[in-house]
Amino acid sequence: MTLRVGVVGWPVAHSRSPAIFGEWFARHGIDARYETIPVPPGEADAFFATFPADLHGCNVTIPHKGVAARHARLEGAAARLGVANTVWREGGALHATSSDGEGFIRSLDEARPGWADVPGVAVVLGAGGAAVSVADALAERGHALVIANRTTEKAEELARAVGGTAALWDDLPDALSGAALLVNATSLGMGNNPPLCLDLAPLPASATVADIVYHPLETPLLAAARVRGLAVVDGLGMLLHQATVGFEKWFGIRPAVDETLRRAALAP
Ligand code: NAP
Repeated sequence: MTLRVGVVGWPVAHSRSPAIFGEWFARHGIDARYETIPVPPGEADAFFATFPADLHGCNVTIPHKGVAARHARLEGAAARLGVANTVWREGGALHATSSDGEGFIRSLDEARPGWADVPGVAVVLGAGGAAVSVADALAERGHALVIANRTTEKAEELARAVGGTAALWDDLPDALSGAALLVNATSLGMGNNPPLCLDLAPLPASATVADIVYHPLETPLLAAARVRGLAVVDGLGMLLHQATVGFEKWFGIRPAVDETLRRAALAP
């Protein structure tokens, strides 16, 4: 029987996940299909309360990560954050976790082995859903964090939650001078959004610059970091590595993230 999995969101048609999972199904000979499942905001509670009997499991994207979490037994980051992006069945119940932070860390580990040994703080820009996951995962790994965000109150709230420090945007040069890692977790640089304009001169030469935006893959921030000769990590790795968590929960195999998968995810 063909197993049905998919991603629940609104809107969700743009998702790259069907291409990612399709590549893995072919590789591992798994009889499954991965669908985009559009669920309007007013219907999300009912969807997860009466989870479709023919759905083996699902990913969850904006704006339903909080709603999904209310209907499942939460594990890992989902239990800490109250949001879920990966749902599976276990012992007759729905279970869920949030794999974005794990995906981010695995992507960094893969692209820049040894980054965690470089002394210095991790500076996270942003305090939205993705920034919360990234900051939580870095804090779990024991990194000292500085958070800056356009809306300072949200940076302060996130810094309190993860045991870090909030910085004003204007004070970033100071924070960058002691940074081992700079992460753009805002939506600046994505699609037609304005670029993230930041003077990278204060960063030490040993610092890594990561951008979780993956459309475009080479953001103006990463381009500027390359010009400065800094190590860079793009956002596609996070997207691919977070997806491995669902695949493993649903099919019992940890799939590989490699260049072929990157090409499959980017194919038009
Ligand atoms: P979100 O919850 O809407 O948060 C957006 C963040 O960007 C907030 O911190 C917001 O600041 C900031 N921001 C937006 N416009 C800004 C501007 N003009 N100037 C300064 N800051 C601005 O979005 P999200 O879900 O966290 O996603 C953020 C980005 O991460 C998106 O580009 C998304 O595609 C990407 N992402 C990538 C992955 C991956 O797997 N690679 C996963 C998830 C998300 P305020 O708080 O002040 O509004």
